[in-house]
Amino acid sequence: MTAPNRQQRLAALHHRIASPQDAYERCRVYPCANRTTADKGEGLNRLYCRQHIEHYRRHGSYVKSSYRSQELRPYRQTALRWLQSHEDLPLVQRAIASIRGLYANAGAPVEAFRLAGRPPRDRARAIWARLRVKEVHPMLVVAAWLAVLLRVADDPQPDRHEEYRRVQAAKLLHRMAGGTHKRWERVLPDGTVESTELHKHPVSRGRVLRMLGDSLAAACDGLDASSIAAEARHTDP
Ligand SMILES: [Zn+2]
Repeated sequence: MTAPNRQQRLAALHHRIASPQDAYERCRVYPCANRTTADKGEGLNRLYCRQHIEHYRRHGSYVKSSYRSQELRPYRQTALRWLQSHEDLPLVQRAIASIRGLYANAGAPVEAFRLAGRPPRDRARAIWARLRVKEVHPMLVVAAWLAVLLRVADDPQPDRHEEYRRVQAAKLLHRMAGGTHKRWERVLPDGTVESTELHKHPVSRGRVLRMLGDSLAAACDGLDASSIAAEARHTDP
């Protein structure tokens, strides 16, 4: 058997670069049989199909779905108890001060129904502003981050990518910030009152979640779940 010469190897390489669909015709998620968007001529993604790209935008993982709120609740409580009993630690004080800084720099709150089409940076700021206006204590925001770290550490089938942690924590903040709820009333000519209600929650997906998650992770830098989990195991029956 003879090794292919340099020219043959170069020719093979050029062929692969020129026709990526040869290498990635099908979505990388096993056992998904969909074609990649690049192969279908619908997009530039050479690795994943449209359905799994959308999953990634919503959940921060190509395969793992988001944690449900009731699934995260006990971890939020554990994290909050730990923070309350370690309030004097410089890392905790730093994290809380950083969240206060994010609140202070978020500008005026923008109502959810005015955010459609705005850039992700504006929408991320609007979430911080709503948390501030709702007077959500910064410690609860730090607890949200730690809750996700604790949940991932406890998960028998975790997605250990930083991206997943950040998106999951951002989704939690998104829920904590809530939506916009409005109610109008007007008196009709016959004297009865007609009321109109509007409920709008910003969509929880895409770049805004990454921006929120990045800010939160930076604010909580240095806090780590393993010592919290160890202490919780020690004190909880
Ligand atoms: Zn797929």
